[in-house]
Amino acid sequence: MKVVIVGGGFAGINLAKRLANKKEIEVLLVDKHNYHLFAPLLYQVATSFIEASNISYPFRKMLQGRKNTRFYHGALQEVKPEENIIVTDHGTISYDVLVLALGTVTNYFGLESLEKNSMPMKTIDDALRIRNHMLVNMEKVTRETDEKEREKLMNIVITGGGPTGVELAGMIAEMGKHIVKKDYPELTSVRGNVYLVSSGEELLGSMSETASTEAMHHLTKLGVHVKSGVAVKDCIDSKVILSNGEELPTQTHIWAAGVTACPVPGLPEDILGRGKRIQVDGFNKVKGTHNIYAIGDISLMTADEEYPEGHPQLAQVAIQQGSLLAKNLVSITKNEEMKPFAYSNKGSMAIISKYRAVVDLPKFSFTGYFAWLTWLMIHIFPLAGFTNKVKTIVNWMMSFFTNDPSLRLILRDKAELR
Ligand SMILES: Cc1cc2nc3c(=O)[nH]c(=O)nc-3n(C[C@H](O)[C@H](O)[C@H](O)COP(=O)(O)OP(=O)(O)OC[C@H]3O[C@@H](n4cnc5c(N)ncnc54)[C@H](O)[C@@H]3O)c2cc1C
Repeated sequence: MKVVIVGGGFAGINLAKRLANKKEIEVLLVDKHNYHLFAPLLYQVATSFIEASNISYPFRKMLQGRKNTRFYHGALQEVKPEENIIVTDHGTISYDVLVLALGTVTNYFGLESLEKNSMPMKTIDDALRIRNHMLVNMEKVTRETDEKEREKLMNIVITGGGPTGVELAGMIAEMGKHIVKKDYPELTSVRGNVYLVSSGEELLGSMSETASTEAMHHLTKLGVHVKSGVAVKDCIDSKVILSNGEELPTQTHIWAAGVTACPVPGLPEDILGRGKRIQVDGFNKVKGTHNIYAIGDISLMTADEEYPEGHPQLAQVAIQQGSLLAKNLVSITKNEEMKPFAYSNKGSMAIISKYRAVVDLPKFSFTGYFAWLTWLMIHIFPLAGFTNKVKTIVNWMMSFFTNDPSLRLILRDKAELR
């Protein structure tokens, strides 16, 4: 049985690894990147705390020694279910079983100027672009004499009150506190502001009240201006325009406010549900198909009794769906019954500032230093590769103890920098 997995994120790579060396199954992992990305730590790349290579790992290295598994570097363009083939930018691939694990893309809710003038935070490229943009702007500030222009260059607006927005805002505020005065001694009289805009009244709305309160309290203490209960209407002419009429002058608007499922041309529109996610049954089989499955963020399963509205788009859901589907595909080859998916919630967490995090476990929540240590452990261990774990720990220790990471290099081509 030839299983083609499109997307090697948390869902796809777990499925591929668990199908390794299963005799009856031939596996082809297709991805538009040649590396697996650990997205939860992207914001640390964007803020120069760790290297891009600490959180990304080549698929070919991950799949070494797995005799039944191959990697194909290509982007999915279309699925042709009636012919059992997919079309990629490099050619056509046939399958017996197709697994769609393409995740999500940034959602700008149809606002073109917002998309054009904001920076998303979904990929390594996005994180590096943010890093370069902020560093270039700081150099511009040192040369700029007009106060208003200086303000626009130094102000940073982050939209999205979820973990990504909160983590970024906390980290950038810390950098402003510890690093700016060391690296830019000429900027004694200039102050920039970090704004965090959230359409919900609470930050970390999907987490507990303890987590929300702690995030609001500590970000405010760090000097972050939290604008909650207001939406961003547009980003144009170097300002972010809010729904209450307020305008925030800035050249840096980071958009961490929403995602939508990755589009898959060739599948009928009516199988899409909330967030354009592909509707699947309790075994992750795409509705109306017999040999196509969808797992992870791209899928919408309402058959799990505990989650009738679908699962949250989290790494743990993706990992667990990938693992179970591997077992179920093996069951198919043995003519055995498949097991339906039931999500086991292991909790959620977010880092707020140096030495402070919030952790929600299924039965209780905790915050502070111990939460930060827990966060650190949970985020280091899943990193692919022993060297990556060690390098990340070293980078982190240096950054945290010295308050002075040394990765602040402007590496992009001038043409790419706005
Ligand atoms: C900045 C950020 C921080 C996050 N923090 C957390 C956190 O702290 N905790 C948590 O649980 N979750 C977090 N998440 C969410 C978590 O990363 C996702 O839930 C998880 O990655 C979903 O896994 P997936 O396999 O479905 O998709 P992904 O991990 O997104 O993988 C999709 C894969 O598909 C590939 N792909 C996409 N399009 C194509 C194409 N056309 N052709 C071929 N390949 C394609 C991509 O290259 C990628 O490898 C975060 C997400 C982001 C962006």
